[in-house]
Amino acid sequence: MADSFAWATEAFIAGQWRPAADGKRFPVSDPATGAILAEVADCSALDAEAAIDAAHTAFSAWAARPAQNRSAILRRWRDLIVDKADALAAVLTAENGKPLAEARGEILYGASYLEWFAEEALRLNGDVIPSASPNNRILVIKQPVGVCAAITPWNFPNAMLMRKAAAALASGCTLVAKPAEDTPLSGLAVARLADEAGVPAGVFNVVPTSRPAQVGAVMTGDDRVRKISFTGSTGVGKKLLEQSASTVKRASMELGGNAPFLVFADADLDTAVEGAMASKFRNAGQTCVCANRLLVDRSILPEFAQRLADRAAALKVGPGIEDGVEIGPLINEAAVRKVERLVAEARDAGARMSAGGRRHAAGPLFFEPTVLESVTPDMAVVREEIFGPVAPLIGFDTEDEAVRLANDTPFGLAAYVYTRDLGRAFRVGEGLEYGMVGVNEGILSSAAAPFGGVKQSGFGREGSHLGLDDYVNVKYMLMGGLGA
Ligand code: ADP
Repeated sequence: MADSFAWATEAFIAGQWRPAADGKRFPVSDPATGAILAEVADCSALDAEAAIDAAHTAFSAWAARPAQNRSAILRRWRDLIVDKADALAAVLTAENGKPLAEARGEILYGASYLEWFAEEALRLNGDVIPSASPNNRILVIKQPVGVCAAITPWNFPNAMLMRKAAAALASGCTLVAKPAEDTPLSGLAVARLADEAGVPAGVFNVVPTSRPAQVGAVMTGDDRVRKISFTGSTGVGKKLLEQSASTVKRASMELGGNAPFLVFADADLDTAVEGAMASKFRNAGQTCVCANRLLVDRSILPEFAQRLADRAAALKVGPGIEDGVEIGPLINEAAVRKVERLVAEARDAGARMSAGGRRHAAGPLFFEPTVLESVTPDMAVVREEIFGPVAPLIGFDTEDEAVRLANDTPFGLAAYVYTRDLGRAFRVGEGLEYGMVGVNEGILSSAAAPFGGVKQSGFGREGSHLGLDDYVNVKYMLMGGLGA
């Protein structure tokens, strides 16, 4: 059990911990055991409006602070989070289920965005452009867009929030964040530390809710909210974009993926198997950049499949708080049902299970790490985002075929390529219609890199020197009367 500081259960609005205006609460449970962890304030439209009011009130003073001041506060927030990493990881594992080591890794990864954007805040430079007339100069300055709204998912309850909060606050924006209903506690826990770090009241607000559509409608419909940043499913992203059209909001959308993992015959097989294990089974397969389809040159497919199946079968499945556990539970019953359906449909259509394939004995929400062979590109397990520990393997014969299969999806978030041929790495890497490509690497997230997708995986980039672009308006000022 986490140290008690971390268990904040009220909404955090205008620097105050508040119950929902209508007094409602909702339960948050541990997916490993089903035990209720906490009853959390269940925010409605009223609370969302109060949070937007607070963010709106706080905006101009926050935006007017010197970047050095905002940077110092973000850095303090980061230091507090790193100090409390163990307690925050315990909260994260309790509500999300991922193994403690992974949860701790997520906390540090989330904190790395605060560190990164604390530094980027100092470099929000503009431009001075020579004009066609000697009488004037073209000035370009960057200003914060205003109040931002963030809607974040349950699979990285800390890092997806920190990624957005760090960039927003560094730019001088204020934020209203709505964490996912399965995992609100991690977001509330970092709010406590924001307060301690000196983030002023109203600059960072968290509104937990079991009624996301209600809160989302307020966030998208309010004209004072100038930007929405969403990480979640493509279906919800489309809805939020439609809703945001009425107020012409800026938007960043990090949506679903269907990552292909390409292994060519010239690849280092040990590295490729290692990468596939990391990319596929991290967070029990519940990440939007998880390998969703493993496309393997037919000449090495049997050996690759055998090695992957052996490794998958050896993974330790169990509650995230147990030592050495590598695969925790899935987030909820609906997630397990989806994985069961995809595996059953693949099996009925002729796929062969070389590892796993069923719910795991550890508990109702656990699923066995699964490897499927004889998979064909038309199967649902290939076309849909699995979000579970299931690795479908498909053979290919040529490089062209591999790239064609990889691009045959409406999604375009992450892709992976394993090859030792430099020319092929560039050809295939450039030919893949994806926002991110890992070459001989199965994990590619980093605060220093631009994270984001193309096609129906969304738009906007989080992290890197590009990460502030989505939170600033570019203003052109013509400086005249300079007298030539
Ligand atoms: P998943 O299927 O992985 O749970 P979702 O897209 O449903 O992904 O959830 C991601 C986030 O979107 C969560 O915070 C969830 O509460 C939120 N969400 C779901 N439906 C809506 C909606 N209609 N409006 C606003 N937010 C929503």
